[in-house]
Amino acid sequence: TIGMIGMDTSGKLAGSCTTSGLAFKMHGRVGDSPIIGAGLFVDEEVGAATATGLGESIIRICGSFLIVELMRQGWEPQKACEEAVKRLIAKNKNIEDIQAGFIAMNKDGEYGAYSVHPGFNFARHTKGENILIDSKSKFK
Ligand code: ASP
Repeated sequence: TIGMIGMDTSGKLAGSCTTSGLAFKMHGRVGDSPIIGAGLFVDEEVGAATATGLGESIIRICGSFLIVELMRQGWEPQKACEEAVKRLIAKNKNIEDIQAGFIAMNKDGEYGAYSVHPGFNFARHTKGENILIDSKSKFK
């Protein structure tokens, strides 16, 4: 999945995600990406979150909605992403075989990212600067 969340100069938030890879494309399967609240959720009053990884595990916790709701309660984006991963691990068996990751940004432009396993990168673009960041993960 390529998930994007952004804020324009007036503070308006937006997000999108596009699922990728043939590996998950069994006939009739619906992954997390097209389900609002699972693969993507944006609330202009709060923030935005998007997900990548095994869609079934993300749908099970309504991951992106969960992160935005935690931010609504005052959680920092980083902590909210970590909590989503914690819940995803609790709700899914065979976690050693499941990769999933989240990025989030609040309406103040603070952001965070977290994944189950290492290897989840995200890019940050701000004021003409592009940085590639390795997200932290639960299992090293
Ligand atoms: N989240 C996607 C899915 O389960 C897979 C991906 O990350 O590309 O459909």
